[in-house]
Amino acid sequence: MRFVDADRYAELKATGKLPSPKGVAFSIIKLLQRDDFRIGDLVQLVQSDPAIAGRILYFANAAAFGRSRPMVSLQRAIVALGSFRVRDLVIGLSVMHGNKSGLCTAFDYEEFWGHSLATGIACQELAHFAQIASEEIFTIGLLARVGELALASLFPKEYSEILLAARERGLELAVMEQERFCMDHHELAATLLDEWGLPDVLIQAAFHYENPDAAGFADGSRVQTLTHSLSFASSLARLCMVDEESRWSLLPALLARAARLGISGDSLNELVDRMVERWREWGAKLQVRTQDIPPFADILAASPPLRRMGSTADTENRRARSPCLHVQLIGIPLAELEPLMQKVEDLGHQPVLVDDTPEGLIQALRHPAPIIIADMSAPNLNATDFCRDLRRTPTGKESYTLLLVAQESESRILEAIDAGADDVLSKPLNAQTLRVHLNTAARMLILKEEIHRERLGIMRSTDEFAVAQKRLLQDALTDTLTQLPNRRNGLDFLASEWVFARSSGTPLAFLMLDIDHFKRINDGYGHAAGDAVLRQLADILKHTSRSEDMVFRYGGEEFAAVLTNANLKIALQIGERIRALIEKTTFQWKDQPIPLTLSVGVAISSGTEADSLELIRASDLALYQAKECGRNRVMAAG
Ligand code: GH3
Ligand code: MG
Ligand code: MG
Repeated sequence: MRFVDADRYAELKATGKLPSPKGVAFSIIKLLQRDDFRIGDLVQLVQSDPAIAGRILYFANAAAFGRSRPMVSLQRAIVALGSFRVRDLVIGLSVMHGNKSGLCTAFDYEEFWGHSLATGIACQELAHFAQIASEEIFTIGLLARVGELALASLFPKEYSEILLAARERGLELAVMEQERFCMDHHELAATLLDEWGLPDVLIQAAFHYENPDAAGFADGSRVQTLTHSLSFASSLARLCMVDEESRWSLLPALLARAARLGISGDSLNELVDRMVERWREWGAKLQVRTQDIPPFADILAASPPLRRMGSTADTENRRARSPCLHVQLIGIPLAELEPLMQKVEDLGHQPVLVDDTPEGLIQALRHPAPIIIADMSAPNLNATDFCRDLRRTPTGKESYTLLLVAQESESRILEAIDAGADDVLSKPLNAQTLRVHLNTAARMLILKEEIHRERLGIMRSTDEFAVAQKRLLQDALTDTLTQLPNRRNGLDFLASEWVFARSSGTPLAFLMLDIDHFKRINDGYGHAAGDAVLRQLADILKHTSRSEDMVFRYGGEEFAAVLTNANLKIALQIGERIRALIEKTTFQWKDQPIPLTLSVGVAISSGTEADSLELIRASDLALYQAKECGRNRVMAAG
């Protein structure tokens, strides 16, 4: 990750044009930089801006997921969220508020914030994948593109030119930015977010999300999952912002990104629909542009837009093979029927006569042929109504409809097109014209089918990929023998809970649990018995832990537990409960009972440790003392 050179950044900052958190947000940044800051000061600052206070309350309640009663006190909300998350949220909202418009003409400020808000909200839906608090991930979604906004503010005219050139020539924006400004929006975003004090893991994600695979993050690591989450959220936001036709072309990449996170099928549909609903709700609240989007399942099921079926070289090649298709003929005057049927047959298709009585038309609507030719001047047929009805049926939507009009009737041609006809032909028909138009119809139908097939293939393979990816992610975070979270997973959890505890002032405990004389079990009953005991013990630990805590395998015959919101008294009680339970449980190996005891070391965060690893060192020391004092006991550090 690269930041903008310090001197250059100082120059940019001196222009006063960089986006920056103003008012309350700025004061909060300053307050949290002080070592002696108190939560009461923060509450007072937030209270001074009712709009921000309202949003903080909303977020705190949304984050509680209805577990507790609604929070009405700002103080409780701030404690629950944690001071640093409050700061990040306020920064995001403040930057948005201060930069809703600007001078860069090619930069669509409304689109930018609509997209950024959608990214933030999509990120929140992914918070549990990325194992990060939903407010933090919201902020990074909202601010991931702040580098682009900054360039638009700093260099409105030049950036406009670059944006237009990049769009026209399909060039990569960051490359053009480097050429012109010797820095790009990734670097500028990272520099700004760093200055505002956002956590490093969020800055990394914002820097790399456009190309997450190039970052070289360890597979399954928290920063990698977060970056992929941001990348998917941004694609989803793009889908929300574009029109119906463009949506289609964004789907394959979006599905692939979802698959990277192991999300597919119904859970993807539900996630997108929930996200869109919240985006609309928040957009209205924050005066940010949104639009109505159909349910995601419908987007996936939609037909490909016709625009994609232009005549490329590839499609030209298909002209030659016109398959035999059923062609329904409706309302053709008797005198013209025979020659028309003959022409259709001569072109290798199968004419099917449709009786233009009401029953006959209903039958045609129920079973439409791939190609339909209807005469608009037929006395018993209202061809425009028929076309409209046809478009409302699932198969009829796919039919190619060709309407015949009398030559002089210009207005009827427009009417037919409005009703959804694919093609209009003037009478009298000559064989050559009919051939060209039926060939076009056949080509369109083949293309539609191929695109459908291609899309089904993509959906199937991304589904399979999603399942495999989910398993991989699961594997990377899970201990194979016991199926408990593994050490890396546990240490990540500890690190994030430690940051949260420190900022919110809530207590945090860490327990190290080590089997007594485990070696004797291996030596006495065999290694397989040792494995079985480890598995049984893991099951017990899994079932006795609270949902907000995490028990994981630390390594070998050592386990650990991160206890959130637990002070020394509670941690000792929990440790003792586990110890007593294990002592009285009979472990089994091939019908042989194996007695087992545990020693437990307990450490509590005092808020003054340099990092979360200090808790591990302290609990290790306590564990050592428990062993020294005769094992099968719980001891606290210090
Ligand atoms: P203490 O009470 O001092 O903790 O004694 P101990 O025997 O439990 O501790 P020690 O560290 O001497 O030995 C731990 C043993 O655990 C050694 C190692 O072979 C065994 N072990 C580590 N991982 C596994 C595993 O996955 N399966 C089995 N069966 N044994 C394991
Ligand atoms: Mg040990
Ligand atoms: Mg041991």
